[in-house]
Amino acid sequence: MNNRFNLFLIFFSILLSSCSHEKENPVCLAYESQEEEFANVQNVGEKDINLDFSSFIATYQTRGEFSGPLGDLAEHEGLDLFNIDKDLSDIPIHTIAEGVVVYARTGCPSSTQFSDNTILRECGAGWGNHLVIDHGNNIYSRYGHMRFDGVYKRVGDRVNKDEIVGLMGNSGRSEGRHLHLEIGYYSGDFDSCEPSKSFDFVVNPAAYGF
Ligand SMILES: [Zn+2]
Repeated sequence: MNNRFNLFLIFFSILLSSCSHEKENPVCLAYESQEEEFANVQNVGEKDINLDFSSFIATYQTRGEFSGPLGDLAEHEGLDLFNIDKDLSDIPIHTIAEGVVVYARTGCPSSTQFSDNTILRECGAGWGNHLVIDHGNNIYSRYGHMRFDGVYKRVGDRVNKDEIVGLMGNSGRSEGRHLHLEIGYYSGDFDSCEPSKSFDFVVNPAAYGF
């Protein structure tokens, strides 16, 4: 009798947990994949952004500027910071401001560190391994082309201003070790279990001191 009651309890609790599970939206700590996926080219926008911005993002020797006509498709959707010093193995990437990680893309390899990546260039929709951080008020930052083993944060992690979130790499559509930094506006929700999504529009990081 006692055993049967215990069995019933076990059965009942399994039933309960499976029901409650169905109601939850699953959260993936990272989207780890070696597929090459596609995301729309982002539009150029303008936005007053009131954030306590960091003063330091990464060490670099050369930079590639954001470009594109306002209201139209961006020609270069972010700011590139290249570190081509082969004597330095690890180049940390710091956040632009405090926030919460809402998307982490991992699993993208790279064939080389200091020349054109030739393997799975559209992995992570070209961004390679990357993080997206939610800064509130629909403002996000994206850190592209991180090293295979250099994505330090996962979905749900809170990050402080200036915090190190990963290492510069050459994954995805990349022509040498660099950070591709995007600041974007997005009105939707990031699904951490799905391939990466574009922002509604991106803004020029240089307009905010970067
Ligand atoms: Zn770039």
